[in-house]
Amino acid sequence: MNYIDPHIHMVSRITDDYERMARSGCVAVSEPAFWAGFDRGCAEAFHDYFRQLTEYERARAAQFGIQHFCWLCINAKEAENVSLSREVISLIPEFLDRPGVLGIGEIGLNKNTPNESTIFGEQVDFAASRDELILIHTPHLEDKYMGTRMIIDMLMGNRQVKPERVLIDHVEEHTVRLALDGGYWCGMTLYPTTKCTPARAADVIEMVGTDHIMVNSAGDWGISDPTAVPKFIIEMRSRGHSEATIRKVVYDNPLAFFSTSKRFDFTPRS
Ligand SMILES: [Zn+2]
Repeated sequence: MNYIDPHIHMVSRITDDYERMARSGCVAVSEPAFWAGFDRGCAEAFHDYFRQLTEYERARAAQFGIQHFCWLCINAKEAENVSLSREVISLIPEFLDRPGVLGIGEIGLNKNTPNESTIFGEQVDFAASRDELILIHTPHLEDKYMGTRMIIDMLMGNRQVKPERVLIDHVEEHTVRLALDGGYWCGMTLYPTTKCTPARAADVIEMVGTDHIMVNSAGDWGISDPTAVPKFIIEMRSRGHSEATIRKVVYDNPLAFFSTSKRFDFTPRS
């Protein structure tokens, strides 16, 4: 089955991963701007990173028949440094109109600190004032419910934000309803150890249905699996779900959300 991985950090992955993903049916990826595993020392490092996302990685993916899209921002972890964050945000307009840039993300909260909240709010303003799509990282484990609640309260407090133009990612059983009930899109991350396994994600789909929900690998430089989405497909099949139901989650939904970005220049396979 053809699928889209709506959240994966391909800059951290080797070429063999692209090959395995292509063989597994991956036709497109969307790569949010994120933490590199270490704090970058200056805004110029992000300038290079944005070039890598919009130029090099797009071309590398194309070699394997995978269409590459990306998002730009300062991530929640490095947003703790407010002055660096503002410098990075000022670089974004130079890159925002490049082909395949879907919007602003992944922004959000990491430890739910005041500095993170300040920069999150400024990036939401930036995106909403330009009617850009927003991709949101929700915190891990014990901070997740509180962080998701704070994020949704801030989104609701901004009159320019349209919920249908926001994807709230890394939802789990205890946060998925918060996101869906607010009218947002949501993403479940399939991780080998933390976050959702394919089986847990299938349980959530059986609980909330297939509207406005998608799954991703969030593959990055840590322990993660770039072919997690195909494993979810297998799990859903083993439970007797129809091909149309599975395709809605792994292909139709990301396609529908991304299609509302004016720079989503996706060519479907015929
Ligand atoms: Zn990510």
